[in-house]
Amino acid sequence: MAQALQAEDKWKLFQDAVQEGVSKSNWQTWLSRIDVDFDDDPPTLLAPSEFHLKWIQDKHGDLIRSTYREIFESPNGPPFRVVEGLPPELPLEPADEPGDQMPTSMQKQSTLPETNLISRYQFESFVVGQSNRFAWAAAMAVSEQPGTHYNPLFIYGGAGLGKTHLLNAVGHHASEMYPDLVIRYVSSENFLNDFIDCIRRKRPDDFKHRYRGVDLLLLDDVQFFEGKEQILEEFFHTFNSLYESGKQMVISSDRHPRNLSSLESRLRSRFEWGLLTDIQPPDMETRLAILKTNAEFAPRPVPIEVLEYIAGLVSDNIRELEGALTRVTAWSALNRRDIDLETAQRVLQDMIAAEEPVALGPDEIIRTTASSFGFSVDDVLSPSRRQPLVMCRQVSMYLCRELTDLSLPKIGEAFNRDHTTVLHSVDKVKRILRSDRAVFDRVTQLTQDLRKGEGISTRAEGIHR
Ligand code: ADP
Ligand code: MG
Repeated sequence: MAQALQAEDKWKLFQDAVQEGVSKSNWQTWLSRIDVDFDDDPPTLLAPSEFHLKWIQDKHGDLIRSTYREIFESPNGPPFRVVEGLPPELPLEPADEPGDQMPTSMQKQSTLPETNLISRYQFESFVVGQSNRFAWAAAMAVSEQPGTHYNPLFIYGGAGLGKTHLLNAVGHHASEMYPDLVIRYVSSENFLNDFIDCIRRKRPDDFKHRYRGVDLLLLDDVQFFEGKEQILEEFFHTFNSLYESGKQMVISSDRHPRNLSSLESRLRSRFEWGLLTDIQPPDMETRLAILKTNAEFAPRPVPIEVLEYIAGLVSDNIRELEGALTRVTAWSALNRRDIDLETAQRVLQDMIAAEEPVALGPDEIIRTTASSFGFSVDDVLSPSRRQPLVMCRQVSMYLCRELTDLSLPKIGEAFNRDHTTVLHSVDKVKRILRSDRAVFDRVTQLTQDLRKGEGISTRAEGIHR
């Protein structure tokens, strides 16, 4: 007993020393998630995935080694082991939705409250290729010296091409370089909601303070402001105020400013004051590189021909590309079988079949998912947190994310919930797909039905037996 306590004290010392030696975001994203097994002597450090382990060894190997050896008085080591599913890689169990039940320390896993940045969207996980090199380089330059190069940096491109990822990466990197910088990431929808909220509470100064008092503003999906006069006016003033005081703005949009037709020209021209850069759909090589990076998280190796097959199947949306890989690796985890080309083709057959993609909206997805689980739409939209309703709601959110181009806040709106809840639900369903065959089959069936525009299927069983 006494020995265990001692080891725990040392572990605490070790954690403190490592935390001292790295940036806040590196600590939160990577190093705080290393656990320990005291049963071994000297203790083994546990990482939640191979990828995670490789990352910390590459970036912080020296620090970890020297700290470990000193504190645990060990001439070598530390030994490492990968334990899949280690908390807080699974930070969200058992509470089902963030916001009302989850301890705040856990909510931080997906978004950091002060900055609102999404933890996992970092430069480290952004694959650079022909299609995004220029946007990436500009984003990098801006995050290294905010306010000096290009202001605003305006990044535009189609859905699922990495705009949100890049905006967040700028924020993370800038906060590592300049810990005192005041950074705020916000989707245009949330910017509008904040505005309405402050007006309603008769606290317009709160809004001004929140958005004009930052050093780096990351505004996502500005096309959302189209046709919304009052918020455009407000944003115009925010822009001017930040610009005049030399504060950095990075703005994203699904189109070039010239095509944001209902934005007044005074705002459109301001978007062109700095640097405009687009992101193109990734070429084959980049798609493959992204899949390879993602496949490192997979419980079983994914052969290169399977990755090539997926890269050939999905060409113009990285979110869909990742979604296809998720389904294949989930299938292989569920069946405890290595994946080969033929099974990948079978698992993804609905993606090939979808020649004429049906335009899907959240209403249709919620309706179809609800009736497949035997619930009403009102149930899904209600605050109730009983199971299996929560699962049904989470699957609906996952399908909205997979099958539409809607942003997280927009999906949240359809469910009367905020975007962090959506993010959490999507991650949770991705995880469950690997371990629960019933959910996997249900999601597969729903995806096929929705893609074909058939609504609820009468078939009771999934297809991949
Ligand atoms: P957008 O905001 O343009 O719609 P996102 O930033 O949400 O796109 O990207 C969609 C998904 O694709 C995210 O999971 C993101 O991490 C991933 N992604 C996009 N571009 C890259 C890239 N270059 N490397 C790795 N992952 C990427
Ligand atoms: Mg986005």
